[in-house]
This record gives sequence, C-alpha cells and structure tokens, in this order.
Amino acid sequence: MAILTATLDNGGLIQYDSEVIGEGGMKRVHFTPDKKSVVCFFKDAEVGQDPQRRARLQKIVGEFNPTTDPSVGDYWKNLFCWPTAIVIKPEIGVVAPTYAANFFFAEGNFKGKEKQASWFTSPKLRRYLPASELGDWLKYIHISTRLARAVRRMHSAGVAHSDLSNKNVLIDPTTGGAVIIDCDSLVVPQIYPPDVLGTPGYIAPEVLASQKLELTDSQRILPSILTDRYALAVLIYEYLLGRHPLKGQRVNSALSTEEDDWLSMGSRALWIENPADPSNPPFEPLQANYKQTGPYLAPLFERAFVDGLHAPNARPDAGEWERALVRTTDLLYPCPNANCAQKWFVFDAQSKRCPWCQTAIAGAVPVLNFYREGNKGQFKAENSRLVAWHHQRLWKWHIFTNQFAGERADRTPQAYFARQGDDWWLINQSDDAMVVIAGAATPNKALGKGGGEILRDGMQIQLSRAGFGRLAVVQMI
Ligand SMILES: [Zn+2]
Repeated sequence: MAILTATLDNGGLIQYDSEVIGEGGMKRVHFTPDKKSVVCFFKDAEVGQDPQRRARLQKIVGEFNPTTDPSVGDYWKNLFCWPTAIVIKPEIGVVAPTYAANFFFAEGNFKGKEKQASWFTSPKLRRYLPASELGDWLKYIHISTRLARAVRRMHSAGVAHSDLSNKNVLIDPTTGGAVIIDCDSLVVPQIYPPDVLGTPGYIAPEVLASQKLELTDSQRILPSILTDRYALAVLIYEYLLGRHPLKGQRVNSALSTEEDDWLSMGSRALWIENPADPSNPPFEPLQANYKQTGPYLAPLFERAFVDGLHAPNARPDAGEWERALVRTTDLLYPCPNANCAQKWFVFDAQSKRCPWCQTAIAGAVPVLNFYREGNKGQFKAENSRLVAWHHQRLWKWHIFTNQFAGERADRTPQAYFARQGDDWWLINQSDDAMVVIAGAATPNKALGKGGGEILRDGMQIQLSRAGFGRLAVVQMI
C-alpha cells in the first residue's frame, strides 16, 4: 500500500492510502493515513467532467452545510457524515469524516461491518445479532427522532437527500444514534437533478411508477423533498415496527417477480395495514399494529401510507415526525417484565399493559397533563402530557412553551420523579421555584431547588413562574 496525495479545490493537499476500502455504485473510498477521514472519488468519469458537479459540491460543502453552523454545528456533526472538502486531482471527489466507531459492529461475526438498519429491522437477520446490539424500543424512538431532525434540517435549507434508505442511514440501537451518510449527491430542485432514483424499498411510488418515461416527459417524477418524506416514513415504520409498510401478500402481476415488485412498490402500492382496504395483508399476523406507536405517530403513519402514498403533498413533513416523536417519548413507560424484548411502550390509560409482552402495570402511574397560559391568564390544554416513571426527568422543553427538544435544547435536567413505596415524588432541580397551586396540604406551596412534593390526583403545579412557564395537572392512573 502506498500513500498518495490529492489536491483540494481550495489549493490544499490531502494524503490518502492507495488501498480501496469500499466501493459503492457511485464512489471509490480510501482512508486518509490517520483514518479520521475518507477520500471518495466518483467512479463515473463523466461525473468528474461535469462542471455542474463541482458547483453542486461547492454548495454542499459551503452554503448547505449544517455542520459548520457556529452555534449548533457540532450537534449536526453527530447526525450527518457531511463532506468537508472537494478533491479536484487526480479526479473529482470529496473528503468526509469517518463514521463514529459505534456505527460499526464491535465484535462477533459482523465485526467491522457498518450498522445498516436492515440488520436490526429484519426479524431474520436480527436473530444473528448478539443481544447486546439489539437495543430497546426507547432507542428506536431516539433513532427515529434524530433521523427526522436531520431530515428536517436538510429540507429547511431547500435540499433533498434523494436516496434515504437503510443503506444511507446508519443506526446504533445500543445508544439510539443515527447518522445520514452519502450527503454528496443532494438534490436542489430545478438546479441539481438527482443522480439515482433511490434504493429499492425506499423509492416513492410515483418515482417508480413514472421511471419508464423519458426524463423530459412532464409526467416523469424525480426524487425531491416530497419523495424524501416517503423514505423517512418507511424508515421510521421499519425502526418502530420491524416490517416494510408495503410488503404484503397481494400479487399485482403473475408475469414476473420484477413486474410484481414494480407494481407493488409503485402504481399499485397498498399499505399492509390500510384500515379501509385489507387486500394486501401482512405475511404473518402482526404482533403489534401501527396504533401501538401511540396517538401522535399513528395518525402520521395514516397520512404517509393512506392519504399520502399516492398523493405526495399529503405526506407529513420531517418536522411533524420530529415533534410527534418527541411527544411520544413523553408517553413511554418501562415494561415491568425484565424479559420483555422491547422494554418500553407507549402508555395507554385504558389497558395499562405492555402491548409487546402483555405484562400489566401494578399500582398508579402519574401523568402530568400540560397547559399553556393563554389570554387573560387562562390556561389552555395542549394535548401533550408526560408519563412519569422512577427517575424520569423534566427538561426545559417541558417547563417552557417557547423551548423545544431540538438541536438548540438545554439538556440540563430541571426536575425528576421518584417512587417511594406507593408514593410518587416530584423533586425540583432547577433554580426556579415550582408552585403547587392546588392539591397540596397548603395552597401555593413553593418548591425551591431540592424541594419535593408527593403527587396527588388533581394536583396543579406551576412549573415556573417566569414567562412561558407551563401548568401541569396531575392524574394518577
Ligand atoms: Zn413488555
């Protein structure tokens, strides 16, 4: 192996190993000698000659690059493997950071392999993984949230990824991490067209259905932000439910598997859980249906796979997924069964039971229903709530209506819940007093830092007296 030198478009030089460590459809990949970065060359010589390509790469490394943001760039570095420089000699290419070590299997038969989602979401492949790699449902909610957040950020800049798939999003269920890779082919509508249609299973039905038309045909549909929204919904569905939304029993062509796939993923696509049309049922009875993802996510799956399956504008955008996932996190409860495969589930006041293993919850569970201050000091219900469990915490985005659990969130815990016998305590950890307006022995009891109170049904707690502070009404369920 030799060490070679490439020239960057800013005049700088970078060294790389001659050995090719990976090769995809579009690129050849080499490590830098310190293995902290990779140098990727485009395989197609025409791509290298294309003047548009260099202009597009300059936009990607510059204007569209979230990782150089002075205040939150470091946050985005964890969510994107974003190109850092453009190579112009010996060929056109890019330099990108190496993925973090946790996105490679550390041991066992798969040591060194990238953690592509299919290892975890396919029940067949999952069996081969060590238990320590499998993660739990909370981690898949975190993975989904991070992916939705990253896609929201990309789309807010007006660019589409164009090939979101199990291959281009690496996940780590042990930490809940997700990283979008291959960010060098981003699509800008009308300026930079897509290189590829996408990866089978993640290509939007309208793209597949029109793929046989000429590129110049006005009916031809190419990857865009709207088709990314389809791929995002498929990935979240796979992470949370372990199956593909369209792969069911219906045969759309007896002619060939190829024709059947093309129709089943394209013009004849039908969700296996479509509530109104059961003609494409799943291959096996479902252990958990999509409604078990809870009151915020289930309606988004319906919009993505019923209303929006063939109507791209009806699909939820990435920000809606992110908000629904954040609110769903607040509804999760740890399964009391130590052997439960999923370990976390969306708490349902009616059943009070884990939908994965059917274990019932013993004793009362405190739920904080959130209210925001409206006009004239009137508090209004927000349709958002927090299910408390032992060591559950309150964050600033729970306390203040003008804070959000996004890239800029303050991640300092503000309070925690603790179970002591049959009592549930709320302990304030913030510098700001919380006030138990009603439901405590004395009215308007202030809880300073370190102060706590036993939660009771109907108790009203002002989480902060500062502007934008929320009111929580306690329900013991
Ligand atoms: Zn369970």
